[in-house]
Amino acid sequence: MTEARIITMKTAVDFDKMAIAGAAVAAVHQGVRNAAHPGVTTAELDRVAADVLKQHGCRPSFLGYHGFPATICTSPNNSIVHGIPGKYRLAEGDVLSVDAGAIYEGWHADAAFTMAIGKISGKARELIEVTEAALWDGLVHARAGNRLGDIGHAIESRALPLHYGVVREYIGHGIGRQMHEAPNVPNYGNPGSGLKLKIGMALAIEPMFNLGTEETRLLDDGWTVVTSDGAISAHFEHTVAVTEEGPLVLTLPEPELL
Ligand code: MG
Repeated sequence: MTEARIITMKTAVDFDKMAIAGAAVAAVHQGVRNAAHPGVTTAELDRVAADVLKQHGCRPSFLGYHGFPATICTSPNNSIVHGIPGKYRLAEGDVLSVDAGAIYEGWHADAAFTMAIGKISGKARELIEVTEAALWDGLVHARAGNRLGDIGHAIESRALPLHYGVVREYIGHGIGRQMHEAPNVPNYGNPGSGLKLKIGMALAIEPMFNLGTEETRLLDDGWTVVTSDGAISAHFEHTVAVTEEGPLVLTLPEPELL
C-alpha cells in the first residue's frame, strides 16, 4: 500500500519479526498467483489471502486501515493501486496488481506484484517486466550512506527511456511498527540528494509505472487510484531493511541479502 503522508517517526526496528510478516506476505503472493485465473473474482482472491495470513499467524495490515474493507488490494488494468476486492471477475488479457501487508507481533511488512491473467499484449508484458526490474534497481541502493534520491533515480531511470508514466502522487514509505512511517520514498529523484540512509531503517520501495500519463484519478469509492488516461499500470513493492551487510529484502519466503 502507498502513502504520501508521514505518520510516525521510526524507532528501533525488529527485522526478525518483520521477516516473519514478510514471509507471510510472500505466501499470500504465491497463493493469489495460483488462484488468479480468468473467471475468478477479486473477492475470491481476498479470501485466499486472508486464509494464508491466518495460517502464518499474522493479521492483515490493510483491513480496517483508514476503513479499507479488505485484506489485499487488487488493482486490474488501468487501476494503479488500492483497488478493493469485490465482484470484478478476472478476464483473459487482464493485468492485475496485488498488494498485501501483514502484521506479526506488531511489526509490519508490505509488498506488491503485478501479473498477467492469461495472454497479454507484448507492451503490457514489457511494462510488468520493467517495473519489476526498476524495483530491484531501487532495492540494491538501500544501503547505509546512500540517499533516498539514489533509490528514486535508479527506479525512474528504467522508465524514462520507454516513456512510461512514473506515478508521483503515490510513493513508497518507511515501515516498522506502523505500515506507513517516515521517510517518504519517491520513485524519482536526483542521485546524492535526500535523506541519508542509516543501518536500522526499513523501507517499502514501490514503483508504479503506467503505459501512458503519470496523472492519476481517485474513483468514487474513495480508494481506487486509476490512470487518468485509462492506460494500464504496473506496481511492484518489497520491504527492505538497511543492514550492516547491505539491503535485506524481507518480503520473500526467506530474507535475501543483496
Ligand atoms: Mg507500501
